[in-house]
Amino acid sequence: MPFQRSEIVAYYLRTENKHPKTREIARLMVRSRVVKKEPMERTLAVGPYRRPLLGAHLSIAGGVHRALGRGEELGCTVIQIFTKNASQWKGRALSAEEIEKFHSEQARTGIEVIAHAAYLINVASPDRRLAMRSIAALREEMERAEMLGIPCVVLHPGAHSGSGEQAGIKAVIESLNVVVRDTEGFHVRLLLENTAGPGSVIGHRFEHLKQMIEGSVAPERLGICIDTCHLFAAGYDLSRSKYDDTMERLERAVGVEKVEVLHLNDSKKGLGLRVDRHEQIGLGSLGLDPFRLIMNEPRFVNTPKIIETPKQHHGIDMDPVNLRLLRSLVRAAK
Ligand SMILES: [Zn+2]
Ligand SMILES: [Zn+2]
Repeated sequence: MPFQRSEIVAYYLRTENKHPKTREIARLMVRSRVVKKEPMERTLAVGPYRRPLLGAHLSIAGGVHRALGRGEELGCTVIQIFTKNASQWKGRALSAEEIEKFHSEQARTGIEVIAHAAYLINVASPDRRLAMRSIAALREEMERAEMLGIPCVVLHPGAHSGSGEQAGIKAVIESLNVVVRDTEGFHVRLLLENTAGPGSVIGHRFEHLKQMIEGSVAPERLGICIDTCHLFAAGYDLSRSKYDDTMERLERAVGVEKVEVLHLNDSKKGLGLRVDRHEQIGLGSLGLDPFRLIMNEPRFVNTPKIIETPKQHHGIDMDPVNLRLLRSLVRAAK
């Protein structure tokens, strides 16, 4: 018997007091008007307790709304998008028509959406001009997400470019304070993504993320996005024998409940090498075990999980393969 979306929402609402995270998800589901019937193939037969919010980072070529159709074809329950060209500072303003199309496609498909900010943004920069430009660009990212009803924007904390880790962290705190003040009253949340830590990039230690949140004037509007490739590259082991230890370190530093999005990527390079190269699920240095553990982690059961793996492998479209593989790792509920 397939579970209907409305039953899932009802389940979340019933359990909201037990799990603070589910209240957030329920609010998002209701707010984005996605309570609708859905086909069997998008619903895990094992029921709402084990139904993963799982999907991929998808292209917005042809308009932001087009990503939802692409997600539907892949059987995604959540997708991640750039709300504009990711390699440009400024995006063309969204028209009312584009926003409406996006909302109607979201209502039709019932897919949750997460935004990822442009890579050019560096709110940690000691270069005042670049920092100011980054703040303006991030504010624009927040505005676009808010207009589209997207609940969160994922941001890389940036690089200190020689000023030192602590100076970089301080710059992030100050920049984010400007952005959260400028976007007061917005629903959209800002999620800091852990990094692989190449060069002077900060955010590769849980403690960096903790400092950035604790230093904020609005810590309640900030959360964490954990990328498994970056985690591994930064030296946090996710193998069966080390997984609990890594989770314990995450819990002690920021708290597992602060993780609002997961990026599931394997890594081309080794543990602690601080190289950010994503690989197909199970084909890289992480192997399948970490993904099996994460897909069945009770604390992440309602956490959206997004793949950002290379789209092709020897000419084969890999998103369907990686998503099917991840779904197959979920153990049936008893
Ligand atoms: Zn990212
Ligand atoms: Zn990522």
